[in-house]
Amino acid sequence: MTKITHIVIHYSATYGDLEMTRADIDKMHKERGWKGIGYHWFIRRDGTVEEGRPESQVGAHVGGQNAGKIGICWAGGLERATGPNKGVDNRTPAQTEALVHLIRACLKRYPGAKVVGHRDLAATQCPGFDVPVWWAKVQKVKQPTPKPVDPSAPAKTGNLSEDKIHVVEKGDTWFSIASMHGLSLNALLAMNDATANEVLVIGRNLLLRRPAPSAPAPKPNSDVAAGGIVALIIAGLTAAAAYLFN
Ligand SMILES: [Zn+2]
Repeated sequence: MTKITHIVIHYSATYGDLEMTRADIDKMHKERGWKGIGYHWFIRRDGTVEEGRPESQVGAHVGGQNAGKIGICWAGGLERATGPNKGVDNRTPAQTEALVHLIRACLKRYPGAKVVGHRDLAATQCPGFDVPVWWAKVQKVKQPTPKPVDPSAPAKTGNLSEDKIHVVEKGDTWFSIASMHGLSLNALLAMNDATANEVLVIGRNLLLRRPAPSAPAPKPNSDVAAGGIVALIIAGLTAAAAYLFN
């Protein structure tokens, strides 16, 4: 297969108040005599991502130069007020978010591929905005900003510390404790190294937040100072953020 060199963003050139789906595009493209949807991915107005043509197949989205190009299309691009001849960026926030995730996933599969808009490759308004400029901005915004650490500052004791521990009471179940604190059952079990059929002993202290992965796990029963736990939580969150945004 040809090396993927570009990820090309498109709009569907349909009105923002229309619910378009992969099936609609597939039908349109078949009517053009193609073998089906020409894009590899389609993003509906509500942010739902639908798979189009398999990535292993060459797409049909940049006339005459489709080899090596993944095509992503988001539904929209036209507004009633500006009519059918004016391409605009009317992505919904959900679409923009889905687009960012989709591009990142593609870049993992095709490292080094350029992220461009259809209009960077052909004479068209599609996709209604400057993709390379937007993408550069997205990457900048999402970079974690390292915060200077002031060792003399006291550890923050805000709301973070309030529900860090749950002391088991009569009638508690794993499930009731998890839902009480807005956790999934699995998360609660994982944080406490427990299984769902483990008996809950009244008076047991259950951790409600996962300690930082690099730090030794504090014993549920030990009297760890609130500040220490908050510091661990902050360290964990920072590590998680750095991981997520890299
Ligand atoms: Zn296009």
